[in-house]
Amino acid sequence: MIEGTPSDYQRILVLAAHIDDGEFGCGASISKWVDEGRDVYYVALSSADKSVPAGMPKDILEKEVRQATKVLGIRTSNLMIFKFPVREFPQHRQEILQTLIGLGDQLRPQLVLLPSTNDTHQDHQTLSGEGFRAFKRHSIAGYEMPYNNLNFSTDLFVVLDEHHVGKKAAALKCYRSQAVKPYATPDFITSLARVRGVQIGVQYAEAFEVIRWIVT
Ligand SMILES: [Zn+2]
Repeated sequence: MIEGTPSDYQRILVLAAHIDDGEFGCGASISKWVDEGRDVYYVALSSADKSVPAGMPKDILEKEVRQATKVLGIRTSNLMIFKFPVREFPQHRQEILQTLIGLGDQLRPQLVLLPSTNDTHQDHQTLSGEGFRAFKRHSIAGYEMPYNNLNFSTDLFVVLDEHHVGKKAAALKCYRSQAVKPYATPDFITSLARVRGVQIGVQYAEAFEVIRWIVT
């Protein structure tokens, strides 16, 4: 059992299948949590080398994630990148589970963020499932990726100000190799944060699926 109530959570672990997923799913909340002095760890299971457009260096995404997480305020020592092959996570399910269990022992997070249970991307789905297995004794929230989700359950909202939404857009701008993605634009990022904000009567928010919530 992890001690504390949600607002006390000091150690937060963001799990990303591919290196930009955490920024897309909860970049603005990460920026807020860092501002509040919480320890945010960012773990990407794949550097997604195969997703690098032709003609660009294979390590460009790794360089970009270092810049993007820096924009969000995550300490370099809190960033970890693994080398599971992109689009092949289902075949590596057991190794991924062992990796996540090891991370849990090492980092002892109080809140874990991962792809939602309705994310249809095979790598995100694997991380969501194995993440629950590894962290089921922790509070877990699923982040929103509207272009992958079959459904999304808006159970939990993090209220944000414009500064945090701006940091998310600035972090995603670091991924020059992924700039063609329509959901990487500041317009999309701000619009989604407005939609989630309007739902709860504030300017901006990010929404999460509550997968497990422990209150002591
Ligand atoms: Zn992804």
